[in-house]
Amino acid sequence: MIYDYIIVGAGFAGSVLAERLASVLDKKVLIIEQRPHIGGNCYDYYDEHGVLVHKYGPHLFHTDNKYVIDYLSQFTQWQEYEHRVLASIDGQLVPVPFNLISLQKLFPTSIASNLEQKLIKQYGFGVKVPILELRRTKDQDLNKLADFVYDKMFINYTTKQWGCTPEEISPEVTARIPVYISYDDRYFQDKYQMIPKQGYTKLFQNILDHKNIHIMLNTDFKDIVSLDHDKKLLAIFGKHYKGKLIYTGMIDELFDFKFGELPYRSLQFKMENLSVKHFQNATTINYPNNYDFTRITEFKNILNQDINSTTIVREYPQDFDRKNPDNNIPYYPVFKKENNNTLKVYNEYCESFQNIIAVGRLAEYKYYDMDDIIARSLDVFVNIVDKSGE
Ligand code: FAD
Ligand code: UDP
Repeated sequence: MIYDYIIVGAGFAGSVLAERLASVLDKKVLIIEQRPHIGGNCYDYYDEHGVLVHKYGPHLFHTDNKYVIDYLSQFTQWQEYEHRVLASIDGQLVPVPFNLISLQKLFPTSIASNLEQKLIKQYGFGVKVPILELRRTKDQDLNKLADFVYDKMFINYTTKQWGCTPEEISPEVTARIPVYISYDDRYFQDKYQMIPKQGYTKLFQNILDHKNIHIMLNTDFKDIVSLDHDKKLLAIFGKHYKGKLIYTGMIDELFDFKFGELPYRSLQFKMENLSVKHFQNATTINYPNNYDFTRITEFKNILNQDINSTTIVREYPQDFDRKNPDNNIPYYPVFKKENNNTLKVYNEYCESFQNIIAVGRLAEYKYYDMDDIIARSLDVFVNIVDKSGE
């Protein structure tokens, strides 16, 4: 088969684009995936105890984007699920994001009421205030509260997760979990919060089930595709390739790190099955200040599985090192200003290859959630259609 598109990576970016190209434009697509499975970091599987576990960390779907829901609903049914997270602080379990319930749990009633009134007066009820912004308040009481939340919830968690303080990474990172002036204790406030009823892997199988899509697992794209940097051409098995390459892996790796390495953060996931019906009081409990791990997630709560034992996962953040098999998975780009220049150089270089499209969390070096990358891939597809005039 002559492929119109070669796609590197079978995560959401690669899979959504493969499906659109195959179904709408009748293109022939080859997906090259280095792992032994599809689904990228969203891959899940039933462990030996029957618990549906997420191999690369807990994935909770949430979006305000109806376009994304409508697209995915062609391939899955849903089970409603609203994620709730607690943090272990000073021996208490309090809601994350820090909200008015957390405030009441951690402060004596009269102080909590005073702070609550001040928060509402200064920012408004229902408003989300990033912790770094709250720390800039001139109100002395609120300033002390901000320092407290920063010390108890953010500084140590962030230092574990990123190896640096909240000030040293993009403010958008900690702003994902703002102080929430509300009694709503859900982790996300999006309109749609649900999990694919039969899991993510089944969803990916359905997306990719098309006669025009051929998938090669256990294959590094470098074993098949080569780039001619002078002529800006592509070759597949050494032969000139005229089709397009959609690349969803690390952008620096695509170009053999020729402009230097971009930093990533990695994680180790340690799973454990316990012979108890329930392990903890929320699906996820964060441990900002104790232990080397950041959080524990109990998987069976996500799809409300009725099983006698339970499987949990602890997340241990670590540096990324592409040469060390223990920490060579790049889970997070590192969002620091100093990386912007290198990224810009890679992006410009990539654009000089007319037939390469770089899309995805690693290829674009962006903090995409699942709904973001699905929306982005659908947009990239629209651009392809617009450009080709098909
Ligand atoms: P990926 O899923 O990473 O897919 C890229 C694929 O490319 C991988 O399968 C990789 O093996 C393959 N690849 C890379 N290089 C090569 C190569 N050289 N050759 C062949 N194949 C290659 N989002 C949410 O919305 N909710 C959540 O709760 C959530 N939780 C998360 C928890 C963690 C720990 C992490 C890391 C992410 C989480 N996300 C969550 C984000 C979500 O994982 C991403 O938005 C999504 O996976 C991005 O899809 P992608 O296709 O860009 O990348
Ligand atoms: N964060 C924190 N304490 C918490 C939860 C989050 O300091 O209890 C910070 C931390 O820097 C983290 C960021 O907020 O990396 C974003 O958290 P989120 O849960 O969105 O991270 P992800 O699920 O993407 O790892």
